Amino acid sequence: MSSLHKLYRNYVDGQFEQTDKTFPNISPVNGQELGQICEANAELVDRAVRAARAALHGPWGQTSQAERARILHAVADGIEKRFEAFVDAEVADTGRSRQQARKLDIRRGVQNFRTFADLGGLAGGECFEMRTDEGDVFSYTVRKPHGVVAIISPWNLPMLLMTWKVAPALACGNTVVVKPSEETPGTATLLAEVMHEAGVPPGVFNLVHGFGGGSAGEALSRHPDIDAITFTGESRTGSTIMKAVADGVKEVSFELGGKNAAVVFADCDFDKAVAGVVRSSFTNTGQVCLCSERVYVQRPIFDRFVAAMKQRADALEIGSPDVDGLEIGSLISHTHRDKVLSYFELAREEGATVVAGGEVPHFGDERDNGAYVRPTIWTGLPETARCVKEEIFGPVCHIAPFDTEAEVIAMVNDSRYGLAASVWTRDIARAHQVTRQFDVGIVWVNTWFLRDLRTPFGGTGLSGIGREGGRHSLDFYSSVSTICINP
Ligand code: NAD
Repeated sequence: MSSLHKLYRNYVDGQFEQTDKTFPNISPVNGQELGQICEANAELVDRAVRAARAALHGPWGQTSQAERARILHAVADGIEKRFEAFVDAEVADTGRSRQQARKLDIRRGVQNFRTFADLGGLAGGECFEMRTDEGDVFSYTVRKPHGVVAIISPWNLPMLLMTWKVAPALACGNTVVVKPSEETPGTATLLAEVMHEAGVPPGVFNLVHGFGGGSAGEALSRHPDIDAITFTGESRTGSTIMKAVADGVKEVSFELGGKNAAVVFADCDFDKAVAGVVRSSFTNTGQVCLCSERVYVQRPIFDRFVAAMKQRADALEIGSPDVDGLEIGSLISHTHRDKVLSYFELAREEGATVVAGGEVPHFGDERDNGAYVRPTIWTGLPETARCVKEEIFGPVCHIAPFDTEAEVIAMVNDSRYGLAASVWTRDIARAHQVTRQFDVGIVWVNTWFLRDLRTPFGGTGLSGIGREGGRHSLDFYSSVSTICINP
């Protein structure tokens, strides 16, 4: 822990900036203070936006796509060079397993830069010929950056989700002002250092720390001189940000909450389905927007499946990040644990049978000051229960039986969210048949959370607006103009 940053500074116009107002970064593992975060006020956010605007008119505005690709690869190299420092920072802020931080979070941060560095070169245009009274005219499109892109990111996969937006935004020639979650300042601050070392020109990447409403997040989203905003977080926050940018009619991309379903048919490979649903329910302590909080199991295997899930959930290793084979870390904070525990209480009131967990574990050491809960499984709730309708964002799922395909399709779609689903079956014709009827952005069959970064990603309903990934990111982060020529 001693190698970690104790003061998390802002990064504006190529300079690291301290502020007078700071707030503590608290470890979710043991409740201890990790350091102080310098909160950016509206004036500093304004300077960041102005620096980002000015940088568009400097050398960055003249870079070719190939030069930007070279710079993004240099950023990826810089992260790889300091890989373990990024892992330390992510683990300290989130309490997740070190192994996950290495294999998923930081690795994906590197991949995001490399993927969008390479994909940037594939951003083509359109060209059409048309015969007119004036002669044959050609219309073709050119891509330009929007300008200043505001990026507001959450705490659940801090590095992965922040770089998922920073990399394509820069690949397309924009400049950015990034506001990471107040819970997870570590990897964002390290990324600013890497940008600095990689020679990214001042003003191209800016970082402002702070909270949302009444702080840096609100100041950034309300700033009149941003050109587009991309946000990942809660649906309610997305709605607030949408209102904030409505008067300026800004481009938005929103990746919001979910209440995702896993559907297990009786013809599945049973052991693989159990292992898959344990993973999709409890990975990252249930704090992945794609986690399954609703599990539907076909009646012939329902009891056996619930029993197997209970056995696996009870056996999951819970603890601090350095425990070998750790599967469940802490939740992000005590505040978030209070929210999750309030749903544990509500589930009992709504009549759930608590099959596994439903409580705080006791360790008899400093982890008792951490934000832990046990992986939890419920059965017996009606589909109308709040615990089946609302996103909880913890290691928890409700398992319900179903009989027919038509019935389960209706259950999956009976949600205001529409982010992801997974299906477990050996019948590939059935997989084709049911998956296309789910109103969600992505469906996995016999797997979960495999992401090809070239494919579109996003949700319907309360789960978001727009698609990012592959050419969809290039489209969102570019402004397209049509040029019509009469030769
Ligand atoms: P959150 O909405 O509380 O916060 C996200 C970010 O928004 C933070 O940086 C926060 O400071 C900022 N913010 C909060 N209020 C703001 C305001 N009024 N104006 C401007 N900024 C504001 O979300 P969270 O709790 O950090 O993240 C968890 C949520 O994110 C869950 O709902 C989860 O499903 C969702 N999520 C979605 C995806 C996806 O791809 N769809 C991915 C990850 C997480």
